Amino acid sequence: MRIDIDLAACAGHGQCAATSPDVYHLDDDGFVVDDVTLAEGSDEDAREGASACPENAITVRD
Ligand code: SF4
Repeated sequence: MRIDIDLAACAGHGQCAATSPDVYHLDDDGFVVDDVTLAEGSDEDAREGASACPENAITVRD
């Protein structure tokens, strides 16, 4: 699995990290950082967090 984050598209809604806090992380201003945590078995979590983004800033590829 590969996760691409379009940092320029991120508007700081924080929904990705709210939905999947073990995968996505925010900076102090609430914008996602390009440093995801992909542990064993967290694929579905990663997909749900990406789907929660209103800006479609996160793309998950198998
Ligand atoms: S949900 Fe989308 S817009 Fe909001 S912080 Fe995450 S990547 Fe950025």
